[in-house]
Formats: sequence, structure tokens, C-alpha cells
Amino acid sequence: MPDCVFICVSAVIRAQTEALYILIFNFLSQKYSKYLLFSNLNFSVISTSIFPIFTVNEIELMPDFLHPDKDNFSSDELMQEEQIRPQSFKDFAGQRKTLENLEVFVNAAKRRGGALDHVLLHGPPGLGKTTLANIIANELGVSCKITSGPVLDKPGSLAGLLTNLEENDVLFIDEIHRLSPVVEEYLYSAMEDYKIDIMLETGPNARSVQISLNPFTLVGATTRSGMLTKPMLARFGIQSRLEYYTIELLSMIIIRSARVLGVRIYEDAAIEIARRSRGTPRIANALLRRVRDFAEIKGNGEIEINITKYALDSLHVDEFGLDEMDNKIMRVMIENFKGKPVGISALATSIAENPETLEEVYEPFLIQEGFIIRTPRGREVTEKAYKHLNIPIPRNPGELF
Ligand code: ADP
Repeated sequence: MPDCVFICVSAVIRAQTEALYILIFNFLSQKYSKYLLFSNLNFSVISTSIFPIFTVNEIELMPDFLHPDKDNFSSDELMQEEQIRPQSFKDFAGQRKTLENLEVFVNAAKRRGGALDHVLLHGPPGLGKTTLANIIANELGVSCKITSGPVLDKPGSLAGLLTNLEENDVLFIDEIHRLSPVVEEYLYSAMEDYKIDIMLETGPNARSVQISLNPFTLVGATTRSGMLTKPMLARFGIQSRLEYYTIELLSMIIIRSARVLGVRIYEDAAIEIARRSRGTPRIANALLRRVRDFAEIKGNGEIEINITKYALDSLHVDEFGLDEMDNKIMRVMIENFKGKPVGISALATSIAENPETLEEVYEPFLIQEGFIIRTPRGREVTEKAYKHLNIPIPRNPGELF
């Protein structure tokens, strides 16, 4: 047998053996977790030291699949996300009020033949802000140029984009709250009068010329509208907040996505995925793709309820849709801070996450589901969190230990 074939065959055998051991380790760690001080950690450490490649991937990647921030997606995942992204108002599920209003404004702008007023969409990541910007452009019959606050670091880069816009085009700026003040100021005259000033030459010969732009619509998206300045907010004629989706809506989204991906899904399986998707379409679609992988490898390719439950449990997504990070946040609040109110920075440091992500991604869902509350003294866990983590509720708050 040639050497390369031998190496490939032995690599496959080794990979399969390692995967089997890992399955056994995971099974044992779950079954006997109550006898271990740090059950997951112990087995993770053991298995990581024995099979570094497989387990390190498994441990580090799992939470990222559930993180509704698209920065965590691979290029393949992003391509699939584009494939299933709704292209018209009729394919966009939920957000009824927002959609109804936008349809009216878009039709009115089309009838006038002018640009739609600037639109601000705010809400947690993964709820459909980028999708809506694309839909607005599609429905207006114009193109959509996409950029984001941190990318537009100087007025020059914004000027380049603005001067390339065709009449009535849509310019989508994601994370608009992260624009630098100088770029933001530059945007004001563009939004208001469709004009910008460009500096020609530098030094003593410097002079500015005013350039007229084509009328355009700015669609701004933000997870933190509170961080936008008043003048910026005032320039958006249309402002909408996107809400978390119900299980019913999410299962409709999942069924549609499965159809686009060409995979058969049963209704109860779609509902099961929806229940565990934190009210967020991006997570629902990401979970659908992972469950599809399990169905292809461990089942007959169809997504039915048993394979779905098996896959979701393997991904450590519990029945409330909470992932490891959510549970870690609540556990730290109970064990390290003894259930007392805690500030966002202290909490973020304890879980080694940045305060922005904690505030934008994890906290809103935990608050909505009633696991934590915001008080004037800080964040506090509720009884529901104790019950969920199977920790006895202390008689007096703050007297856990
Ligand atoms: P955001 O910009 O708010 O972070 P996106 O617009 O990128 O979120 O949406 C994430 C994914 O979720 C998209 O790929 C899209 O397919 C899906 N999605 C979001 N909202 C909806 C919806 N209302 N109906 C169907 N799919 C949706």
C-alpha cells in the first residue's frame, strides 16, 4: 500500500477511535456529574489532554454556534445564511407592526419616485436588521451597499461610499453606534441635504468643495440605540425596534429555511429547535444547520424529533434555549456574588466576557425570560434561575453560603 494511502487510512481510524472515546467521556461526565466537583471541567481536562485536537475544538466552538453574532460564523456558514435570507416582505416572518409601517413608507416613496426617509432599526443581534435593509432595497428596486460603523474609520471612506450611490439607493450601516464622532458629523449633511464637503489638498492650499449626492436612504442598525447621539437619532425619520420572535414564528422560519436548504423537517422537530433558539432567527437557522448535520450522519437525513433532541442535547442547548454561557452567568451571580446585585463590569470580568457582549447578547434574553432582573443596585438573579440550575433558594436573599 502506498505510504500516503496508509497514512490517510490510519488517520481515519484514529479519528473514529478518538471520537468514540470522546462520546464515552461525555456520556460518563453527564451520567456521573453529581459525584464530581467540577464535572464538565474534569472530563474536559482529561479528554483535552488525551485528544487535544478534537476536544479543544468541541469545547471552544460549541458556544459560538449559539452566539447570535455573525462574526463567529465561518465563510461557509455565512454563505448558507445568505442563501436562506428572506428577500421580500412576504418572506419575512413576524415584526408585524414594523413591517406594516415599512410597507406603507416604501410604497409611498416608490409612488413619489423619491428616496425613502432614513430608517433606524434597533434590537439584539440576529433579529433581522440586515435582512430588512436588503428587503427595503429589493422592494424599492434599488441596490443596497453594506458597511459598518467600525469600518468607516475616516470621513474619506464614507465619502467614497456616498459618492458611489445611485439615485434612491440604500446605504446600510451596521453597528451605527460605533461610528467615530468625526464620521458621524460628516454624515449629518449627507443625510439632511444630500451634500458633503470634501477637502482638496492639504496645508496652506487646503480648500473644501461641496459635492451633491444622489438622494439615498440610510438604514442604520444598532444593538444599542442608547449610545446614539441626539442629533443622529433626530435624523432618522423612521425608527423601529425589533422584538424577539415567538416559538410559532421561529418554527415557521425554520421550516422555510429547511425548504430552501432542501432538507425535510417534521413540524414537532421544528418546534423543538424553535423552543431552544432564544427567540432569535439567526440562532434558529444555525441550530437547524447543526441538526441537519446530525440527521445526515446519524439518521436518514430527515430532521425528526428524536435526532433533533439528541443533536440539541449534544450541543448543550437546554430546553429554555440557554447555552453554557447563560448558565455560567447565572451560576457566577449565585455562587461568586452570593445572589446579591452585581454591576455589569464586575460580572463581565468574572465570566471573562466583554461587558458590551454581555449587555447586548446575553442579558436581554435572560431578562426577558425572567432569569435575571435589573435593579438600581445592579443585576440580580431570580428564583427561576435558582430552580433552573437546581440550586436551593436561600431563605434570605444573599445568604446562600
Ligand atoms: P441582524 O442584522 O439583526 O443581526 P440578520 O438580518 O442578519 O440579523 O438575520 C440573521 C438571519 O436570520 C438571516 O440570515 C435571516 O435568514 C434570518 N432572519 C432574520 N429575521 C428573519 C425573519 N423575520 N424571517 C425569516 N428569517 C429571518
